[in-house]
Amino acid sequence: MFFDKIQAAPADPILGLGEAFKAENRPEKVNLGIGIYKNAQGATPIPRAVKVAETRLLAEENSKNYLSIDGVAAYNAATQILLFGNNHEIIANKRAKTAQSLGGTGALRIAAEFIKRQTNAQTVWISNPTWPNHNAIFKAVGMEIRDYRYYDKNTHDLDWDGLIADLSQAKQGDVVLLHGCCHNPTGIDPTPEQWDTLAKMSAEKGWLPLFDFAYQGFANGLEEDAYGLRAFLKSNPELLISSSYSKNFGLYNERVGAFTLVAQNEEIANRAFSQVKTIIRTLYSNPASHGAATVAMILQDNDLKEDWTKELAEMRGRIKEMRQKFVETLKACGATQDFDFIVKQNGMFSFSGLSPEQVDKLRDEFAIYAVRSGRINVAGITEDNIQYLCESIVKVL
Ligand code: PLP
Repeated sequence: MFFDKIQAAPADPILGLGEAFKAENRPEKVNLGIGIYKNAQGATPIPRAVKVAETRLLAEENSKNYLSIDGVAAYNAATQILLFGNNHEIIANKRAKTAQSLGGTGALRIAAEFIKRQTNAQTVWISNPTWPNHNAIFKAVGMEIRDYRYYDKNTHDLDWDGLIADLSQAKQGDVVLLHGCCHNPTGIDPTPEQWDTLAKMSAEKGWLPLFDFAYQGFANGLEEDAYGLRAFLKSNPELLISSSYSKNFGLYNERVGAFTLVAQNEEIANRAFSQVKTIIRTLYSNPASHGAATVAMILQDNDLKEDWTKELAEMRGRIKEMRQKFVETLKACGATQDFDFIVKQNGMFSFSGLSPEQVDKLRDEFAIYAVRSGRINVAGITEDNIQYLCESIVKVL
């Protein structure tokens, strides 16, 4: 027998929570676990521009021929414009190459395989805390993982001194993974000045920066959110980027992401990218078309792009409004603790400061589901559940 000795793997801490929520029977249940956007009605909508583009695609599509290994060319070009901005020198000089990927996760896995097989890097520095899959992906390719401090529990802010102290130990050739914006799980991003300092430090020390950009447009805007990446591009000739369009295009189950490699010049970029294509060929050969073709159509059509940008601003606005209301309602329900820090955080997540025991109590006694680290998905808060949620939180504090 081959399989009878296999141990059961533990459930994924975040996806497992979704399963438990589905099975929950109490009607008052509230899901603040998995990171998906929800509108005021608690639904995860398909953006208007996506619906229009999909309808057009369906009518126009006349073949299901394979895509190339790196996917839809127009999509890859549009991705570079979102990342670098229009008319960036990198685009003009063809120093970047992009491959469509299976979501941001797929891009990260390509990055990890590429780093492991084609560079001398042995160590990757990952923020503590981080999205748990970061550690798992780099572990899967056999890299050494070191963590750098990120979150100060007392100030509910960036532990800047801890971060600098830890990253000072990162050596030339080490990979440093950075969250492009809307740090998951803390919602805390470096300030522009801090980004500038980190970019300079990276260039001086000779790190290979890897940007995980899963929430572009969810903090302050598409251009604003690229500040950190663009600060790095000014001084770091080589860099890797993972993009995800799961959240900002609402295309979660279409698995739409991109891996981008920036090199010193076009010739090196092409050479390195040929190895990226070899990696993709052995992983899944070539990607699926639908999601990427949808994104490409939106980003190439002025009206659709404008409507998408508008809807993204609406999503961002709703989350910011909910942050404000959440803090106000907690106060109104009698919370004596200061929760004002929640208003300053970016993106969907907030590190609420709730302990694992308090999170357990919320689930057991009130059918409110959150990640045990205290991370809550602010987009899961609606006018309908906010009062119940805040009353329950105050009871477990
Ligand atoms: N990186 C971060 C920080 C994330 O939060 C997520 C998704 O939650 C991803 C990457 C992966 O995104 P995708 O669903 O596109 O694979």
